[in-house]
Amino acid sequence: MESILFLAHSQSDGTLPKSALEALSAALEVAGKMSGGGLSVGLIGDNIQGAADAIAACGAQKFLAVEGPEFSVSRYGSDAAAAEALVRQSGATLVLAPGTSRFSRSLPGVNQRLNGRIETHVSGLDCAGDTLKLQRWYYRKRMEATLTRSQRPWFVLVDAGVFPVWEGEAGSANLEKVEVALDDDCKRTQVVGVEAPTSDAQTIRPDAELLFVAGAGWTKKQADGEIHLKDAENLILGFLQKSKASLGSSKSLVDQSCEGEAVLTFMSHLNQVGQTGATPRHPKGLATCCHGEEPHVVGWRFINERRAISIDPNCGWAIGKADVLYVADAFEVIAKVNEILES
Ligand SMILES: Cc1cc2nc3c(=O)[nH]c(=O)nc-3n(C[C@H](O)[C@H](O)[C@H](O)COP(=O)(O)OP(=O)(O)OC[C@H]3O[C@@H](n4cnc5c(N)ncnc54)[C@H](O)[C@@H]3O)c2cc1C
Repeated sequence: MESILFLAHSQSDGTLPKSALEALSAALEVAGKMSGGGLSVGLIGDNIQGAADAIAACGAQKFLAVEGPEFSVSRYGSDAAAAEALVRQSGATLVLAPGTSRFSRSLPGVNQRLNGRIETHVSGLDCAGDTLKLQRWYYRKRMEATLTRSQRPWFVLVDAGVFPVWEGEAGSANLEKVEVALDDDCKRTQVVGVEAPTSDAQTIRPDAELLFVAGAGWTKKQADGEIHLKDAENLILGFLQKSKASLGSSKSLVDQSCEGEAVLTFMSHLNQVGQTGATPRHPKGLATCCHGEEPHVVGWRFINERRAISIDPNCGWAIGKADVLYVADAFEVIAKVNEILES
């Protein structure tokens, strides 16, 4: 009989992030399918009541909380101590949490302390009788494994975008506080602030409706025999700013900086989509100046609606890899689209 704990960090405004509400759906799915399957919620942060109230109707039997300013910051020592206390207090055999950077960093240590087992990047789950089976990716999402374990506690870090966001009525949760005394080791790291680029400077936007992929064609000689790098930069940044799309790249384009060729200054390897890059999840994708070769397109497997703009009617997108291929000059098309978005 499993006892299930859902873990989440509350945000400074007393809400739960989307990834946590997705992991809550996963925890509820497991709780609903396993016999026994009692669910507890364990929240960590400085302002927990609001977050607990927002999910009061989820059906959890208990709401445990490690609360205080020391637990609002992302720091291994305090995050691990808080999660360990919640797991011990709940007596959980299964612990589900969103695969955020905070949990990805701290839960492996908690797992070690409790002699459990941990799975990261979990992309699906299924219950056969009372046996929980998890799916997770290996080798940069090229292989998917289904696995189960007998060792407990079993920690499960759920990937974002896999489960639906939990939706339900807010209510009034009865919080049970769990006290955690942090020793000096836990507090050795002091968080003095957070530096993040403004959302406009951020080109990777996982929640965006559209993935805009730039290929190496943007930096190649065009019909007039010239390279138009500055125009390319302005067109792409203008489009991103207006459409709020997320920026992806082909490998050839991001590799150019190492090869001493002309580059788009805002592009880095983090933008690379494909076999050796990312496999983002967006409802729609638009590839521009990109040939659509298989090692690139394999990174598009979770993009539902695919379109591409290429001057080459025989490019990879033309052979069934895109729903729509516009055989056109991307410089002209994106300039026109930017004009329309502007007006
Ligand atoms: C082991 C391995 C792993 C790889 N992993 C990845 C990966 O993760 N991701 C990845 O992307 N690639 C990967 N590759 C490389 C991949 O095979 C291709 O080489 C790469 O995707 C090509 O990039 P591209 O389409 O931008 O450039 P190109 O092949 O140079 O294509 C540029 C395209 O732009 C078009 N074009 C030019 N000007 C315009 C214009 N004005 N308007 C419209 N179209 C225009 C051209 O017609 C051309 O089709 C991998 C390769 C290997 C061997």
